[in-house]
Amino acid sequence: MTHDVLVPISALEHWSYCPRQCGLIHLESVWDENVFTVRGSQAHERADQPMTRTERGVRVERALPVWSEELGLVGKCDVVEVTNPTPNPLPPERGRGLRIVPVEYKSGGPAHARHAAVQLCAQALCLEEMFGVPVPEGSLFFAKTKERVPVEINAALRELTLRAVQDVRAMLLATALPPPANDKRCPRCSLIDACMPGCVARAAAFTPDPFAPRAERELP
Ligand code: SF4
Repeated sequence: MTHDVLVPISALEHWSYCPRQCGLIHLESVWDENVFTVRGSQAHERADQPMTRTERGVRVERALPVWSEELGLVGKCDVVEVTNPTPNPLPPERGRGLRIVPVEYKSGGPAHARHAAVQLCAQALCLEEMFGVPVPEGSLFFAKTKERVPVEINAALRELTLRAVQDVRAMLLATALPPPANDKRCPRCSLIDACMPGCVARAAAFTPDPFAPRAERELP
């Protein structure tokens, strides 16, 4: 299947956290750092270096590019663990018998796990298509608490992820920035200065589209 627009896997976590944050980053190329994004970059430092090694019988791929032609997704896995339980080094058919587990590194604690789980599920969907094997589980590794949390790639998470892919693609095609959340998410968001959530929300109270040409607005 061909798609007009490829959806970056990282956009799905941004969308899950706040659609406007996703739009600012992926439509308007806005990026700003705060303490949380700097911690995130530090947590990814090792995982961002492409590398293959075997650790206790498990092949570990770092910074592995992944994609899905079916879903029009592209991205990179921090870590993919591959176990081949068969004694033969190569299974007879592509991927058959392999156990594949994507692992996503996060700087904070598990508070934002549900957003990261959408990103992880998208990686699992890509790996399933690339290797032709089911990927029923992934893991989130939280640098702050040094916890590794298994995530079941179940039907509900798959549905949530596929809906996010559709929504992000629709936003990219429409090139329309979503409205601000203007809630408790904003103080932690590094894009708050570019977003101006309170200001935009107040302007929207006067007119449905504060950025529309004056003649098209119904001014009070
Ligand atoms: S400041 Fe708030 S509304 Fe704006 S992008 Fe960040 S979380 Fe979303």
